[in-house]
Amino acid sequence: MGKILDYDEMNDLLGKLENIKKEKPIGYTYFGLPIDHYVYGRGRYHVIITGGTHSAELISNVFVIRFMERLSKKEIFIDENLYTIHFIPILNPEGTIIVTSAIRSLIPRDISDEEEQTYLVTYYRNCYIEGDYATKYGDKGIKLQDLMFRHATFDIIDDKYKNLKDNLKKLFEENNLPIGCMINWSSNGRGVDLNSNIEKSSFIERVSNGEEIYAPLHLNNIRRDILGPLGCPYFKKGEIEKENEALLNFYNEIKNKYDYIGSFIYHSCGNIVYYLGDALEENPWVNLTKDEVNNNYEVAKIYSDKTGYKLEGLEVYTTMDSKLKSLFPITLLIELGSVRATPLSQFMDFDIGGDENFKFVYSKIINKNTEAIINCLPILKEIFNQNN
Ligand SMILES: [Zn+2]
Repeated sequence: MGKILDYDEMNDLLGKLENIKKEKPIGYTYFGLPIDHYVYGRGRYHVIITGGTHSAELISNVFVIRFMERLSKKEIFIDENLYTIHFIPILNPEGTIIVTSAIRSLIPRDISDEEEQTYLVTYYRNCYIEGDYATKYGDKGIKLQDLMFRHATFDIIDDKYKNLKDNLKKLFEENNLPIGCMINWSSNGRGVDLNSNIEKSSFIERVSNGEEIYAPLHLNNIRRDILGPLGCPYFKKGEIEKENEALLNFYNEIKNKYDYIGSFIYHSCGNIVYYLGDALEENPWVNLTKDEVNNNYEVAKIYSDKTGYKLEGLEVYTTMDSKLKSLFPITLLIELGSVRATPLSQFMDFDIGGDENFKFVYSKIINKNTEAIINCLPILKEIFNQNN
């Protein structure tokens, strides 16, 4: 069995976990998919962990799910009488269906780990070749990594997601999306990038001025200013997507009802832990005190020590995550792994030579981040108690 999990496999696995309870979904997507919520423990101190805002960052879903699995099997220990951990492992179910359907158009479920690794390394190499071509020649042509997935069209989406499938067809036709780009799908099924879908998105002005905005490097054939795989901030100007509305309501509910001590939001990639640093511009939602900034840094520092990830204070307020980080401290945003070329390269798990960062990528991501969460919890609790 390989390491990749598709949408159905994720749900099968999640359905079998012991000691972790499935709650009522925090909401539903535009095309009716549930945004599922799972809970571990019954303690006083509440923590939120989310994955998969950007569905192409598939490792973030898989990391959260594997963490839940280890917790459920008691391979790792969190005191269930002290903490309550809320998991939302698939924040963007429509995107996850699109990207994992694309993966399964080429890479079957029931292959050996070794065989799966050969696909991953091919994809990785193709992305890096295209990244170089983009830099050297400004090449915006069809991409090698997308050609691998050229048979992944709207047609491969299961008919049980009929509305999603029909919309995907429409997006490809109307927006002339590049061949094979379902493998790069980070947005939801409407083609909106959930992290950009915020009142202060840096793109909004540029998009409404009709500017063509392209993604960088091996993705430079994909436009961010139109509904599609990534970057597009809204369906209709000012409209907030259902996933974001549900998430914001959920955070509010937890914070109002319980002793909320912090949250971890997973993306990929960059090997970075973002905390909310000193404001360089006015924060549109809240003004954090010096103490709050320091507390945020203190937890981020522990996370960074355990993972070796870079620490960065984020002072721009142009993403949904920056809003969550502002309104619900202490929230960390973690970019898993340093290998770009999502959704596949983060599952590579052997010594490919060269840069240390490209060796045993998968195991390092899973193990180091598991340890980091466990080490941060007591500090979050301590900081909460000092301030309340
Ligand atoms: Zn992301």
